[in-house]
Amino acid sequence: MTRHLYHVIAAMLLAALLALAGCAQAGKSEKLREAGPPEDTVFQVSTINALLQGLYDGEVTCGELKKHGDLGVGTFDGLDGEMVVVDGIILQVKADGKVLPAPDGEKTPFAAVTFFSSDRTQQVKELADYSHLQRLLDGLIANRNMFYAIRIDGTFPYVKTRSVPEQAKPYPPLAEVTKNQPVFEMRNVRGSVVGFYCPPYIEGLNVPGYHLHFVTEDRRQGGHLLECSLQEGTLQMDQTRGFYMTLPAGSDFAKADLTTGRTEELKKAES
Ligand SMILES: [Zn+2]
Repeated sequence: MTRHLYHVIAAMLLAALLALAGCAQAGKSEKLREAGPPEDTVFQVSTINALLQGLYDGEVTCGELKKHGDLGVGTFDGLDGEMVVVDGIILQVKADGKVLPAPDGEKTPFAAVTFFSSDRTQQVKELADYSHLQRLLDGLIANRNMFYAIRIDGTFPYVKTRSVPEQAKPYPPLAEVTKNQPVFEMRNVRGSVVGFYCPPYIEGLNVPGYHLHFVTEDRRQGGHLLECSLQEGTLQMDQTRGFYMTLPAGSDFAKADLTTGRTEELKKAES
């Protein structure tokens, strides 16, 4: 075979291979759209900065959200309570402390869920407070630029949570609402902490660091976790490489200024 002919054949083979790869790629993205995001993906509705600004209109139904995860955190249409997603059930911790399974038709303005499949399980005991828990988690997060879903089932001598009361339009910013947040204290309860570690670069989109919610084993008390001590429990972590975000279609989101840093506001709203 002459060198020239060899090159022509090689080029044709390469072109054919590229065309095949292109078809496979197109087929793959079609499948992705149909099936939604794959496992090991954080599925998120809207952005944390939109929520901080008071964009509380629900976007995605709980029925839809369940198709994208069985563990997570969030809130509800009109900021009507804290969302705790555990074992595929979406619970609504109302401002009066009542915990109800959220109807499939109820909508969320902000939530993050994932299909939880633990890739690290270990027993934990005697954590004096939330900062000790965070330090323990810090030591287990091998890659701080990755997402981790977190679940801790155990016995808690003390838990402090908060919820948020339903808001009417015009919606005030989240840091205004949380100034008067109802706080709940629980003593000697069994329950589950669920939520995420998000990497620092997620700022503006989600909460950098830990965002954890709590619900008791009897699913009757819970909320956004503010403080806790742990006697003993099982900690599970799921490193999650995918991140999928769906944004609100409405005009409020279109008009919102999402360029400003809101680190201080976020601290106020989350603590
Ligand atoms: Zn929260």
